[in-house]
Amino acid sequence: MQQVYMDHGATTPLHPEVIAVMTDVLTNHYGNPSSVHAWGRDAKKRLEEARTSVAKLIGAQPEEIFFTSGGTEADNMAILGVAKGLEKKGKHIITSAIEHHAVLYPCEVLKKAGYDLTILPVDDQGRVRPEDLALALREDTVLVSIMHANNEIGTLQPIAELARIAKERGVLFHTDAVQSVGKIPVNVNELGVDLLSFSAHKIYGPKGVGALYIRRGSRILPLTHGGGQERRRRPGTENLPGIVAFGKAAEIAQRDLTAEADRLTKLRDRLIDGLTAIPEVRLNGHRTERIPTNVNVSFRYIEGESLLLSLDLKGIAASSGSACTSGSLDPSHVLLAIGLSHEIAHGSLRLTLGRINTEDDVDYVLREVPVVVERLRSMSPLYNQK
Ligand SMILES: *Cc1c(COP(=O)(O)O)cnc(C)c1O
Repeated sequence: MQQVYMDHGATTPLHPEVIAVMTDVLTNHYGNPSSVHAWGRDAKKRLEEARTSVAKLIGAQPEEIFFTSGGTEADNMAILGVAKGLEKKGKHIITSAIEHHAVLYPCEVLKKAGYDLTILPVDDQGRVRPEDLALALREDTVLVSIMHANNEIGTLQPIAELARIAKERGVLFHTDAVQSVGKIPVNVNELGVDLLSFSAHKIYGPKGVGALYIRRGSRILPLTHGGGQERRRRPGTENLPGIVAFGKAAEIAQRDLTAEADRLTKLRDRLIDGLTAIPEVRLNGHRTERIPTNVNVSFRYIEGESLLLSLDLKGIAASSGSACTSGSLDPSHVLLAIGLSHEIAHGSLRLTLGRINTEDDVDYVLREVPVVVERLRSMSPLYNQK
């Protein structure tokens, strides 16, 4: 049976070149970058080379990159760190209704601690309206956090415009770019953001490593305290194998970006055209302002979980809603925010493409999904009554 992995939004397989450098570091470069001896100096050199590669991918300076344990920690560091750093300025934070939980939950924590939280709505394609942000900004606003690309529906936000509005009012702007970095060109200066989170395992690097970009001069306090690593902003002995692997993944992402984006956009559009030809289906997210790798559709009269299990039996790995909330029966907050009813939201399917996917994979999915949908519907009392 054909095996088709189309869940790259949840995580990606390691690139073979990444495995090679990571294995080499694990085997041969075990020094602590803080040590003064040759082993330590060698490790330090590797660390700084990786920082340069990672910085280049987003058009930043190496000294503006702070390595973390992943996207979640980078998001928490940005939100909680800026809130702490600017406590005296004010206690108002703005975010959007479709953020990843790694952004929404730290914002909720601040709310419980007495902060005012404004959650901006999105339109039916999943886009924040710039005029809504302009109206929400206040004298005591300390941070705006709006994601670049949504992990469930793939919609891209007009970040440059949103960041400009925040900047005009002197407010720091953070973006969770975990889903856009490595898939489309991301440049911190063109976007005009002050803080940006990204993660290695979404770009063919290992799990458990990510980074926060902090524009020089931004006021932010650390969340943890200890040694002097990462210029005291993120103490603790560095995850050198992970960081060097992240650096390699960043180099490869930059090298292959244009060709892969073109190739995957074509595969994505074939999937969208094929799947939306099935009756009683809708595409979620923006038709064109979306990352090249994301397809998200909702089928009426279908239970998303049954669809996933049936596809799994066919060797197809997909997801419904987001991987982080699967196992819960609540429909995705993102799908509800773009106006879907609970019923339709429950019948959603997310296919996320990556470098290992081929035309052949798309053919297979387009052959199998309609058959599975038809079979599940034939067993649905609601479908048969309509
Ligand atoms: C995966 C993801 C995260 C979390 O990153 P981890 O490295 O898994 O902690 C945060 N935000 C978005 C949009 C993501 O897709």
